[in-house]
Amino acid sequence: MLHRYEPSRTAPYRARRQQILETLSARQAAALIPAARPKARNADTEHRYRPDSDFWRLTGFGEPHAALLLLPKVGERAARSVLFLRPRDREQEIWSGLRLGVERACEALGVDEARPIEQLWKELPTLLEGCTQLCYRTGVDAANDAEVLATLTRMRAKPRSPLPWPQEIVDTAPLLHEARLFKDAAELSAMRRAAEITAAGHAAALRIARPGVNEREVEARLEYEFRRLGADAPAYNSIVAGGANACVLHYVENDAPLADGELLLIDAGAEFEHYACDVTRTFPVGRRFSAEQRALYDVVLRAQLAALAIVRTGTTIDQIHQCALRALVEGLCEHKLLPESVDEALASGSYKRFYMHRTSHWLGLDVHDGGAYVRDGASRALEPGMVITVEPGLYVAPDEASVEPRWRGIGIRIEDDVLVTAGGSEVLTAAIPKQADALEELRREALHSA
Ligand code: CA
Repeated sequence: MLHRYEPSRTAPYRARRQQILETLSARQAAALIPAARPKARNADTEHRYRPDSDFWRLTGFGEPHAALLLLPKVGERAARSVLFLRPRDREQEIWSGLRLGVERACEALGVDEARPIEQLWKELPTLLEGCTQLCYRTGVDAANDAEVLATLTRMRAKPRSPLPWPQEIVDTAPLLHEARLFKDAAELSAMRRAAEITAAGHAAALRIARPGVNEREVEARLEYEFRRLGADAPAYNSIVAGGANACVLHYVENDAPLADGELLLIDAGAEFEHYACDVTRTFPVGRRFSAEQRALYDVVLRAQLAALAIVRTGTTIDQIHQCALRALVEGLCEHKLLPESVDEALASGSYKRFYMHRTSHWLGLDVHDGGAYVRDGASRALEPGMVITVEPGLYVAPDEASVEPRWRGIGIRIEDDVLVTAGGSEVLTAAIPKQADALEELRREALHSA
């Protein structure tokens, strides 16, 4: 258990805390970042524990019932990090696993101080003396919210205290999520590994998918590969959608048999060291695309490649969307799924019955990672270190009466993860095949070996 906390691995977490501590010191603000609370699944069974992303990024500590307190420089007292965590408890550890414990926390995690979590609310008022702001995210955990309010109320009731106390509660998200947009070397290394594992999962899924196999078998094979290769879990509920199921954007039932002549859309990514990968591929259940499937596939792929080609420093998130959107609408007009001109369709929004989502989101610890998409009222320009998805799609609902029946029930999305670099961009998930001819070749091999 303790091998998880090698002192040699604390440097990135320490550097991230240092960056936040500097901002906090400039504002005379403290930040309280609680660990996620375990969540009941049903009766006395819990969901598998997953740390809070902000807490994890600043500690690398995966136990529940903990909180990180970042304290600014106040007078002669240096800025510091205080971790509250569960003490060792032999009896409890027999039931629920080893704990790091208070004594070992400073060395293992590189925090300045460690204290028992039971002391948090009792000691917080003293620790916050001299701070004028408390950065804390309300609305996540009602019990913590109540304790924070009670703490500040208690401090307010001591008007003769010589030191200021926090008179404002400020959301931590702008501070922490802005930092999360820019991935450091350790984060990129985790994201590259998540991408490798995801590639292996998609390859395994492609090998076993065939007519008669159930979507859930494909899901299980994919996620088997994720776990076998060291992923924490899928980064989100895997979507394994055969045929018209792909027209349901967040289809997660994954329980229908695959049929020859249909496409299979798989949107699934591994989470490695709590960093997400997010990939979608669409390929024929049988050996070949039909003419209509191939026509729309080529439209989506063209749109995705066009959008990927403009990902670089200075491009805005909206420009990427507009680039993909125009290519999709051109294809829809070319194949007469939209009767009007490209510009008319873009102006009227008639394309929305085939493409109803945006093209990109931030990616990192959360699959839809934190961070502002808009700055000063305008779509934000990309900068080196940011990671986004590029994921155009086309979805022709099975009951879409405006198009010929041969187009109906086709759902296609192609999604990759892209890092913005100083010189341009790098597709982290480039190893996962997506050219239609390559996919048909792989399908032939897979079905031949059946
Ligand atoms: Ca996705």
